[in-house]
Amino acid sequence: MHPTLPKNNNINILPIKAFEDNYIWLVQENLNGIIIDPGDAEPVLKKLKATKIDLKAILITHKHHDHMGGVEELIKNYPNVQIYGPENIEFRFKYQIVKEGDVISIQDTNVKFYVIETPGHTLDHIVYVDRDHLFCGDTLFACGCGRLFEGTYDEMFKSLSKISSLTPNTKVYCAHEYTKENIQFALTIDAENYQLNERSKKLKDVEITIPSLLQEELETNPFLRVRTSEEFKLIRKRKDEF
Ligand SMILES: [Zn+2]
Repeated sequence: MHPTLPKNNNINILPIKAFEDNYIWLVQENLNGIIIDPGDAEPVLKKLKATKIDLKAILITHKHHDHMGGVEELIKNYPNVQIYGPENIEFRFKYQIVKEGDVISIQDTNVKFYVIETPGHTLDHIVYVDRDHLFCGDTLFACGCGRLFEGTYDEMFKSLSKISSLTPNTKVYCAHEYTKENIQFALTIDAENYQLNERSKKLKDVEITIPSLLQEELETNPFLRVRTSEEFKLIRKRKDEF
């Protein structure tokens, strides 16, 4: 548990679709906005214009292009935007490096986020969390988790355990719409799971399945239901071949 998690009382969260299946999240407090993982600037600029929201900050979870490819174009349009992200020499723009335990305060707002390091998908991966919301990039997906490009199974298992320890009421905002495929896979290893079957039925005709509740993930996500990193490894390997 993280007793220091900030509480953001007056935020509203909007999805911005990008590429095939990415979600870029827009956190709004009044007319101030925070963008998480802008892989593409164009849909973000469109949304900001349409909603008259001013961009105050960009939060980056990890180095993959579909999470930060739009940063430089957004800086051109919003030169005063604050940028936060993990330490990574590949980032070519000016930004504030954040680490586990940091609490960031977004300029001109009351919005604060706590940072948790979640290596596994990539080594630099971090997530942003408050008492009610988790922005987890490609670490956790609805009913799934990110592929391991750089980290070990043990690292990813530990990263997911940190997420599991958050309050079950946390809403989970991941960066891809993979939920239905993930549920199909989960059913191959947990077919008798009542909640999983209910989740499958509930989401059948739903287009945007995010956010989910951490509680649902704890009940139905096979990658959060394993007890050891060995078990995690077996399931992750099966998913890679699914
Ligand atoms: Zn990624």
